[in-house]
Formats: sequence, C-alpha cells, structure tokens
Amino acid sequence: MCLRPNPKPGPEFRIDLAAVEANYRLLKSLVGAETEIAAVVKSDAYGLGAAAIVPTLVEAGCRRFFVADLREAVHVRRALASVAHIYILSGVQSDELDACLGHRLTPVCHSLPDAVEAASRLPEFVLNIDTGFSRFGLTVTDVQAFAHISRRVPDLALSHLACADVPSDPTNCLQRDRFVAACEILRPVRRSLGASAAIWLAPRFHFDVMRVGSALYGLNNAGITPTPLMPVVQLFGRLAEIRTVRMGEAIGYAASFRAKKSMRIGIVALGYAAGLPWSAGNAIDGAIEHHPTPVVGRVAMEYVAVDLDNVPAALCVPGQAVEFLGPSRSAEAVAEAAGTIPQELLTRLGSSCPRNYASLDHSMARKDGT
Ligand SMILES: *Cc1c(COP(=O)(O)O)cnc(C)c1O
Repeated sequence: MCLRPNPKPGPEFRIDLAAVEANYRLLKSLVGAETEIAAVVKSDAYGLGAAAIVPTLVEAGCRRFFVADLREAVHVRRALASVAHIYILSGVQSDELDACLGHRLTPVCHSLPDAVEAASRLPEFVLNIDTGFSRFGLTVTDVQAFAHISRRVPDLALSHLACADVPSDPTNCLQRDRFVAACEILRPVRRSLGASAAIWLAPRFHFDVMRVGSALYGLNNAGITPTPLMPVVQLFGRLAEIRTVRMGEAIGYAASFRAKKSMRIGIVALGYAAGLPWSAGNAIDGAIEHHPTPVVGRVAMEYVAVDLDNVPAALCVPGQAVEFLGPSRSAEAVAEAAGTIPQELLTRLGSSCPRNYASLDHSMARKDGT
C-alpha cells in the first residue's frame, strides 16, 4: 500500500489584537471626551475570542463590556479580574440574580416585571427602551409605570437604532426623540443609543456610552470610504492537491463549474465546516501572494477548489497558503459576494476555524493596493 504524505494543511483564522486596540483608540477619538466606548463582545467577541479580545481592550482603557448571556458574562468576569462593568444583553431569569450579585454582573431588563425585580434586588440595573426596533424592551407605558412603582434610577438606559447605517433615514430621529422622552421620565445615570454605525451619525446620537462591536473588529458598517478602521482578520486555507483539469471536465459537486480550457486547479483544505460559506462557491476570489485564485465549483465540507492559472508554478505546491479574507479582501466584500453579512462570516469562522493571534500577512495584497 502506498500512502501519500499528508502535510496536515489546516485552515487558519488569524486575528490581529493590535488592530483591535488601534480601532478602539480611533473610535474614541471620533466621539467627544464625555462619550465612552463600550465593547460588545457577545458571541465570543463576534467569533474572535473574548478571552483574548477583552484583556486587550481593558489594557487600552475600555471599562464597559456587553455580552450575550450569563454564561459569557461569567467567563468575561474571570478574564477581567474586577475592573470593568459587564452587561448581559439577553437579561437573566429571576433565579440567576444571585449569580449576577456574586459576579457583579448587570443584566439588561427588557420588560416591566424584570425591571421592577432587578431594581429591588441589584445595586445596578439597565433598562432597554423599545423605540422602534420591536425586539425587546420597555414601551412608553412600561417606562411610566416603572417610574411610578420604583424610586430607583437605572445605571444605564439603552435603546438600539435600526437604521444607523443610513444617516438620512428618518427612523434615526424618530428613535432618538422617543429615547430622549423616555430618559426624561427615567433619569438614568447614563444613556446609550448607538452601536458602531452611529459613531458616524451626528454627535447628538452619541450620548454617554456607545456600544461598539463590528467597528472594533474592523467591519465598516457605515460604509465610510476609505475605511478608517484597521483590518483585524485574515483567513487562510492551504493547498492539499494541485491538478490539471482537461477542457470540458467538471469540478466538484453538481458539476457546477466546467473547464473552458485545460486548467490548473488547487484543492484547498478549507470548507464550510470551518466557516467558509457554502454560498461562496463560484463566487469569491482567493489569492496566493498577490495572484488572484477564483473559487471554482461548490464549497464542500472540508475542501474548496481554486483556479491556479494566474499563479506562478513555483507557488503551486502542497502546503502553500491561499488567502480568502484579509487586508485587501475585506469581510464586507467577501460577504457580499457570498450573499451574507460580514458579522455572520466572522462568527461562523471564529467558532469553527482554528484561531491564531498574530499580525496580518500583507504579502497577499492586491498589486494595485485596493
Ligand atoms: C450587537 C449589538 C450591538 C453592537 O452592534 P455593532 O453594530 O456590531 O456595533 C450594540 N447594541 C446591541 C443591543 C446589540 O445587540
């Protein structure tokens, strides 16, 4: 029997912590001194790993963190020692309030009964006001009722904008007006309305605390050109096989790509199990150094094929890195080509592909620098 050597060509999801820190400092410089930048690290910091991201941001001066649920909150509290405020976006159940007290965690309350209970049992609590997102939150009637029932003021009142990436959308002003009106009744210690995209709205949308996720991780939700944010992530697969496909032959499942001429292809050990979207089949470009390598055929569970015709033969060797996401292949562009959004791309890659905290490799940049 003849077994071929397996170069163990695993994929790599690279994350640049220095770039996250640089983005935090940049965002701080874009808001007034009275506005704090809080970090949203839900879903394990959008897949990038809260255990690494949180200490990086604490070091940079961040003191407020938003997580998805109690389990994430406990993890972040352990990573953080004691310095920061941790807010639980999903809120908690009554029987979890003791855990909140024990770990000094602050739940976001989404209903009148939750708010009344938290106000009677916790030193700090947060109220979410529904100003037009229609997901969770206290209505105007709830806000008035709360003010009658409880004498306590929330540490933070928050609401969430639906259309902050479109500055001219009238929904933004409508939500802001409703938020301000609710805060006049509640008199919270701090007010928070905006997430990443709202950084680029007028300062009257900034209030005391901005809850920023995407922008810290380099995602340009507001579509500012050129993006002022540093790229944070890079995705590599490695060539497991190089072969020549004759004219007219098909590549991969459903024979969705057929060679128009004899062509060299590479089989990259990266598939949808590691978070490369299935919908990237026949739709995105990878690169070897600065040579583009379009995906040909469907994305399979563990593999994807790329066209190597534009790549010098010396680089077409097993183990060679192929970049699919990076400084010149933004998550926005890749997500758009694959019919998804960059946040989904990051959370899926981060939860399934091996992560490596290191500086990004810029040798894969497009030659024209775009
Ligand atoms: C996820 C989330 C954010 C962060 O949003 P980005 O657009 O990624 O900055 C802020 N606030 C709430 C309530 C969220 O759920």
